[in-house]
Amino acid sequence: MSSLKDFAVKGDKKIKLKQFATAPDDSISKEKIIRKTQENLEKMERFQDRLYSEGKEGLVLIFQAMDAAGKDSTIKNVMRGLNPQGIDVYSFKQPSGEEAAHSFLWRAIKCFPTRGKMAIFNRSYYEDVLVVKVHKLYETAKMPNRCKQGNVIERRYTDIKNFEEYEYNNGYRIIKFFLNVSKDEQKKRFLERIDLKIKNWKFSSSDLKERAHWDEYMKAYEAAINATATKHSPWYVLPADKKWYTRYLVSEAVLDVFKKIAPQYPELEEDAQQRLQADRECLIAEDNSR
Ligand code: AMP
Ligand code: MG
Repeated sequence: MSSLKDFAVKGDKKIKLKQFATAPDDSISKEKIIRKTQENLEKMERFQDRLYSEGKEGLVLIFQAMDAAGKDSTIKNVMRGLNPQGIDVYSFKQPSGEEAAHSFLWRAIKCFPTRGKMAIFNRSYYEDVLVVKVHKLYETAKMPNRCKQGNVIERRYTDIKNFEEYEYNNGYRIIKFFLNVSKDEQKKRFLERIDLKIKNWKFSSSDLKERAHWDEYMKAYEAAINATATKHSPWYVLPADKKWYTRYLVSEAVLDVFKKIAPQYPELEEDAQQRLQADRECLIAEDNSR
C-alpha cells in the first residue's frame, strides 16, 4: 500500500508527473481509508486547538489543480472538524483591476493568517506560473518591458521559492497540493456537470478551452513543482480520480506538518499559576457564602 511519502516532492530530485498515479491501487480498501480519514480529522482538530492556543506558527495549505479535480470538495472535507475561528479559506480567481496593478504575490500576502491560525488557498500565486505561463499572459500585463523580457516564469519561480522561505523564517509553513486528476476523469466530471442540473453552475465553456491545453498545463505544473518544492515547503502530487483517497492523503499531509510544528498548550508562569489558584478559591468561596 502506498503511503504519503510516495507522493511528496521535496526538491531533492526532479520528478516526472507521468510517474505519479491518478488513482489508488486496487488493493486499497475504501472502507478502511474512510475510517482512517475520520480518525485523522479528529487528530487534526486536537492539533489545531493547540496551534491556536500557542499562537506561534501559521499554516497555509495551497490547493492547485486542473478544473474538476476536486479542490472544492477536498477543502470542504479538510474543514470538517476544524474550528472555523482558526482557519480562513481564500479563492484566487482572475486578478481584479486592483490586484493586477500590484506585484503578483501581493494578493496572497494579504491573505496570510496571523500566527496560530491556518489558511487554505483555493488556487494561489502559483496561477502566475501556470495559467499565466500557458497563455503568456505576462505579455499583455501593464508592466515595463524589462519585466516581460528574458525568462519571466523562471524569475517568478525564484521569487516564489524565496517568498516561501521568507515565510518559513517568519514562523509559517506552507504545504502545496497538486490534485492529480486524469484527463478521462475530468471528462467524466465535466459531463456530469453538464448533465446534472444542480451541477450546471460549476461548468463554464472556458473550462473546455483550458482542457484543450492539457499537455501544456501538465508541463507547467511539472516545471513549477520541480522549481519550488523544498524540504520546508513540499509539494504533494496526489491521485485525484477517487475523492475518498485524495481526502485521506491530504489529512495525512496535514497531520504530518502538525507533527513537525508540534504545537503545545501554553504553560503559565509561576505567578500566573498562583493567580489562577487564588481565582479558584474565590469561586469556591461563592458557594460557601450562599
Ligand atoms: P475557478 O477556480 O474554477 O473558479 O476559476 C478561477 C479561474 O481564475 C481559473 O481559470 C484560474 O486559472 C484563473 N486565475 C486565477 N489566478 C489567475 C491569475 N493570476 N491570472 C490569470 N488567471 C487566473
Ligand atoms: Mg473553473
